[in-house]
Amino acid sequence: MKNMFLKIALVIYLVATQISLYAQKDKEPVLEIAHFSDIHIRTEYNANERFVKTVQHLKKNFPQVDFVINTGDAIDNPNRSSQHLDSLWNLWDKVEAAIAPLELYSCIGNHDPFLRIQDKDSAYYGKNYTVKQLGIPARYYSFRKANWLFIALDGNNPDGIDTAQKEWLCNLLEENKSQSNVLLFLHEPIVSPGAAYDGGYLNNWTSMVDTLANYKEVKCVLSGHTHIYDEAFLKGVHYYNGGAVSGYWWEKGPKGDGSYRGSKPGYGILRLYKNGDSEYSFIQTQESNAAE
Ligand SMILES: [Zn+2]
Repeated sequence: MKNMFLKIALVIYLVATQISLYAQKDKEPVLEIAHFSDIHIRTEYNANERFVKTVQHLKKNFPQVDFVINTGDAIDNPNRSSQHLDSLWNLWDKVEAAIAPLELYSCIGNHDPFLRIQDKDSAYYGKNYTVKQLGIPARYYSFRKANWLFIALDGNNPDGIDTAQKEWLCNLLEENKSQSNVLLFLHEPIVSPGAAYDGGYLNNWTSMVDTLANYKEVKCVLSGHTHIYDEAFLKGVHYYNGGAVSGYWWEKGPKGDGSYRGSKPGYGILRLYKNGDSEYSFIQTQESNAAE
């Protein structure tokens, strides 16, 4: 009889251990992503070397990261001259080399295209040149990883997400219904307390809020532009704004610590789960990047 009790106890113990192991496994993220925004590579302030330090900080502290998302303003383009623009994109090539072998997925920021060039025949004209320099397939595109669909958008338009782009997006979301979790990323925020406080919303952001709310698969949105780190939740979607890697555009700023409106330089670490949950941590890099 005593043996029987022991056997039953052992079976209960083994089943309980399996259940807890299963629960633990389910809590492991399926993807871990580094989120860089507003890197603003410029020829001054040793911006390039200091950004490489940020990449080293990431690789040392989060070696398990699966890939990198850049939500725009890769370069700090002052629209000076094509020669100056060339020098910025040459520095960007060094940035990409530092990020490698991690994969890098970028979207376009308002500082990335060369706005001064009006000659449509120029190689520098429009967003096609930016797309080429960023090494992305088009100004908006998608890719899949694990059970997540990633969608890069171009919000740099008078109507925010223009009609053709929105149609493409809705078709993609329709095709994906009841399938993968969805993460969108773009430069200008769709929902952001920082933008409410200091400006910088995507044009026509309210219509995007309603569009995304129609798709329960859309779980989170990454953005930048405001240089202020914030998080929000609206109509079933988490909105994460990753502040700025460059803080006060690599300068000391009014507070002398490289911060913009109280937001220090840094980057995000986003954990994505199989069930659509997400967790965002903002990692301050003020120490390694202290404005010089
Ligand atoms: Zn910016």
